[in-house]
Amino acid sequence: MKKILAIHTGGTISMSQNDQGKVVPNAKNPIAQEETILAGRVQLITDEMFNLPSPHMTPVEMLKIKQRIDQAEKDGIDGVVITHGTDTLEETAYFLDLTLPNTIPVVVTGAMRSSNEVGTDGLYNFRSAIEVAADDASRGNGAMVVMNDEIHTARYVTKTHTTNVATFRTPTFGPIGIVAKDHAVYFQKLINQDTCDIDHVIDHVYLIKAYAGMDGSLFDFLDNDQTAGVVIEGLGAGNLPPQTLPAIQRLLDRQIPLVLVSRCYNGVAEDIYDYQGGGIELRKMGLMLCQGLNGQKARIKLLVGLSAGLQGDDLKQFLSTAVS
Ligand code: ASP
Repeated sequence: MKKILAIHTGGTISMSQNDQGKVVPNAKNPIAQEETILAGRVQLITDEMFNLPSPHMTPVEMLKIKQRIDQAEKDGIDGVVITHGTDTLEETAYFLDLTLPNTIPVVVTGAMRSSNEVGTDGLYNFRSAIEVAADDASRGNGAMVVMNDEIHTARYVTKTHTTNVATFRTPTFGPIGIVAKDHAVYFQKLINQDTCDIDHVIDHVYLIKAYAGMDGSLFDFLDNDQTAGVVIEGLGAGNLPPQTLPAIQRLLDRQIPLVLVSRCYNGVAEDIYDYQGGGIELRKMGLMLCQGLNGQKARIKLLVGLSAGLQGDDLKQFLSTAVS
């Protein structure tokens, strides 16, 4: 029988609606009491690590989850399921994807409707995630997100809707599989897996979104000794308004790593345009283009790379290999 570790961290999947119709955390996580789910086929080991709404989640907790999984692997666990609030689920999932050795299946899940609401999806998603974590076909796919009968890579999945149960989508590439009645069915595979083990996380890595008419003010706020790195969600294929350039140059002069992704939902950042603030100039200035990741994922990757002590060309190489 497969031994699966269920790590509970909080989120809507652990919450309930109260008499006033407000969704609130519970002192006791209802999903963590479901220890006999798939009894006879899977032995479930439960760890209630946190009870946090996911906007309260930080890289410090993400690292603790990674270390708990490292320990479980040494203890001979066959797979791991993490229940998590959906707001920042993709960031924790991608953090685990980058920092774990990709030997056993690691599946992150959550819910859009709390435990006592009509049509609650928590228990169903939890069961699906356990099925996927216990399936031999799930090995080698990196960390995965299982919600609403779909299997997505942690690397590319993103939350796309505030309330719909079909909120998790993978732009450009699509899901890699589906959850059938009692097993996983895969129809795509990631070609390339970047992993980077870390034992601490650094702070002061920021994410800024570009907009029409943007100037350098937001970048100037980051022009200080503390700033460790900045990800910029650029316009279109990866362009910025020209008024931002002097402030961006000041950050580069301070040797602050700057990463450029696109704010578009689909596609990848590329240096196509040769006008002031176009991708060609931005790359020449020293911005690192990161292809395929959204802003929040690129921020996690930059944070992990910097926490591992990567710099210069090594950091650039690490950040540029998102696609495939
Ligand atoms: N706000 C909730 C959270 O992320 C949303 C959810 O879990 O679906 O904790």
